[in-house]
Amino acid sequence: MKRGISKTYPALLGFGITTTLFAQSGGKPNVVYVFPDQMRNHAMQFWNESPYRERVNFKADPVYTPNLNKFAAESVVLTSAQSNFPLSSPHRGMMLTGMYPDGSGVTLNCNSMRPISSLREDAVAISDVFSQNGYQCAYIGKLHVDFPTPNNPQAPGAYVEDKTPVWDAYTPKERRHGFDYWYSYGTFDVHKSPHYWDTEGNRHEIGEWSPKHEADKAIEYLETVRDTEKPFFMVVSMNPPHSPYQSLDDVMEGDYNLYKDTPIEKLLVRPNINPALKKKQQCAPYYFASVTGVDREFGRILDALKKLSLDKNTIVVFTSDHGETMASHVEDPKNSPYTEAMNVPFLIRYPKKLKPRVSGLLLSTPDIMPTLLSIAGLKKQIPESVQGADLSKYLYSQKTDKKAPQGALYLRNEAGEKNGKGEITGYFPAARGIKTRTHTLAITVDRKKQLKETLFFDDVKDPYQLNNLPIEENREIFRKLCKEMGLLLKQADDPWYRESILNELIPY
Ligand code: CA
Repeated sequence: MKRGISKTYPALLGFGITTTLFAQSGGKPNVVYVFPDQMRNHAMQFWNESPYRERVNFKADPVYTPNLNKFAAESVVLTSAQSNFPLSSPHRGMMLTGMYPDGSGVTLNCNSMRPISSLREDAVAISDVFSQNGYQCAYIGKLHVDFPTPNNPQAPGAYVEDKTPVWDAYTPKERRHGFDYWYSYGTFDVHKSPHYWDTEGNRHEIGEWSPKHEADKAIEYLETVRDTEKPFFMVVSMNPPHSPYQSLDDVMEGDYNLYKDTPIEKLLVRPNINPALKKKQQCAPYYFASVTGVDREFGRILDALKKLSLDKNTIVVFTSDHGETMASHVEDPKNSPYTEAMNVPFLIRYPKKLKPRVSGLLLSTPDIMPTLLSIAGLKKQIPESVQGADLSKYLYSQKTDKKAPQGALYLRNEAGEKNGKGEITGYFPAARGIKTRTHTLAITVDRKKQLKETLFFDDVKDPYQLNNLPIEENREIFRKLCKEMGLLLKQADDPWYRESILNELIPY
């Protein structure tokens, strides 16, 4: 990079302006990372169309996503991106740091009773790397990786909400990991009256649907806020489609009208719908309305990039923190090894380097940071702390290299030890598992760390995961999966590996 500039500006090097000059010449790409919360991979309309439907063994939900359909045709679309710990905070910690939860510090969903779980201040986040390499970094929307403390900028010494436990949080400047533009909150689920703290800690109460407002802020950032001479990394973290999905308080009426007259059984078209989850089934039209609304707001951000002629030199990712089982299997819609909880949308567009296609790459959450940095030209700046892999070479071309990941870990932690105040000071690694191209296996242990139960599916023969396989009759594949899982747990330096949990089954 410096070589190219020094030909013209030899005297200027070393005075902090190389980045500016290079950005003007169109060198460093911008990065826009949009991730709604709890969006099923299945909730994108294009999966029912060629060339996508040939690559997956599920049917798309009957949902309208015109902007994502168009974006998919311009992107590398992953069929099998996995949220390894399909729960908000742990996913976000892994995405931001490229490390599994022990490394990121975010081992449980963050709230005021769980001081053990919070993004480590000394962890190197993707935004730290971009910032150190001349990028402006903007965070808009839900963060949910910080342990809430009584640091309310509007009421010093108080929490930002007065319920127990406190879930929402204010993130002060010293914990923003290189993000120099801030318009964010911890977690809060009143979708039509969201609030945000800005870069200086001022609180803004907004009376409109949060994805609409966040798209407005993102467009404002692109048009008038950023320094146009520097590249930028912008994260837009929309909360919907997140519960509650129960009424017009949660969604835009026009979006709801697209679904309200369709019988529930025509919206929930899967054979694994649990008839006992009647109340959840009623959420379907609101959930799909949220998805359609998010699709529209994402489309507005794409339009703004195009209008500003930024689309060719901007890497755009659309993904989610985890899926939503939406009335199949069990009550908890996430935090489980079911495909519909772990499989997330992952679409990446970068006209300069990525040829649009469908890929079966098994992307794990910690792979996102190194892969994105590499595509942005910062491969050498990937920190040593990163545990995920740079998978960019599999996005560039149709390689079927045997070195491509063959498995992705599944993790579930639960609350462990408590202190005298009832605060959780340890976590219990309750379940571990593996997702491969053909199978899902998750093993849960009891508090004595003995085998409690397994969920074991042949995802080829049984894509809706209706038949939990007995181990005895499937001993050979079970052994093979345990072996692969042991290797991955060792690579992740997971507590199951460190404590040799179930080592009679899992060879570490
Ligand atoms: Ca979430």
